[in-house]
Amino acid sequence: MKNLKPYKECSSVFLDDVLKAKNISKKDPEYKKRVEILKPSVKKEYLTFETEHTANNLASLTTAGYVGQDKIDLLKLYKYDNSVIQKLNEEVTTLEGNRLINTCQNCTINEINSLDHIVPKDEFPEFAVNPRNLFPSCSKCNGHKSYVWRENKRSVFLNLYLDNLPEEQYLFCSPKFDADKITLRFTVENRFGIEQNLFGLIENHYKRLHLPKRFRKNSHDTIYELSKEINKYKDKISKDELIKTIKEDIVEEKKYYGFNYWKAIIKETLIDDKTYLTLMFN
Ligand SMILES: [Zn+2]
Repeated sequence: MKNLKPYKECSSVFLDDVLKAKNISKKDPEYKKRVEILKPSVKKEYLTFETEHTANNLASLTTAGYVGQDKIDLLKLYKYDNSVIQKLNEEVTTLEGNRLINTCQNCTINEINSLDHIVPKDEFPEFAVNPRNLFPSCSKCNGHKSYVWRENKRSVFLNLYLDNLPEEQYLFCSPKFDADKITLRFTVENRFGIEQNLFGLIENHYKRLHLPKRFRKNSHDTIYELSKEINKYKDKISKDELIKTIKEDIVEEKKYYGFNYWKAIIKETLIDDKTYLTLMFN
């Protein structure tokens, strides 16, 4: 899991550009004119969004209350394949060194194939195309997010534009061995003093997106990869040397994919596990 950098440019101009890029349909030739009328009031809402975004306090937003045709028109602004929205997607998923991320950072399992509305568009249609409200995501995470996004004026999901991920380990896994079959159980724990509010958010995020279960279900490829690597080299270099090399790779993997990247956590746990080592080296 990595933090992404939020859109830097003016969000009002972004709104103008999204509208410009929309095709006028014959069925509804007046669409753009209606949105033009709504734009000044939507842009005012953008200013409030901006303030709360800067304070990382989006959960305290109150809805402008667009209903009926206005709501339909605002929601219609959002389309994943709108060229301006796709440009935004590309921009925020490009990390330093022009590295393009194509994996959903909410889960780090699936490919990005949608944009998640951090503040839900059904409740806040005014932010349907606010660029700092759009976070690249997979449809599975998007589906799990549904409508519950805050409780008692606090977000229940990490906003990976704003909530800085800690370097401390909070994702743990414990292996269970049944003959040569390995099953893993993932937990989120605050063993290293992560600030309480941030940890609560992490815990909620992982729980509500069912990440421990999704990691477990997807873990077999990583277990296989590690075993394959050990089998490939165990007769060529010493056990200690091999373990050292694997651990060095894990450090690099964590730097690249995030300190609590689940695949790195799997490898790190197994390579330190006596039963696993006995299984692999005997
Ligand atoms: Zn996802």
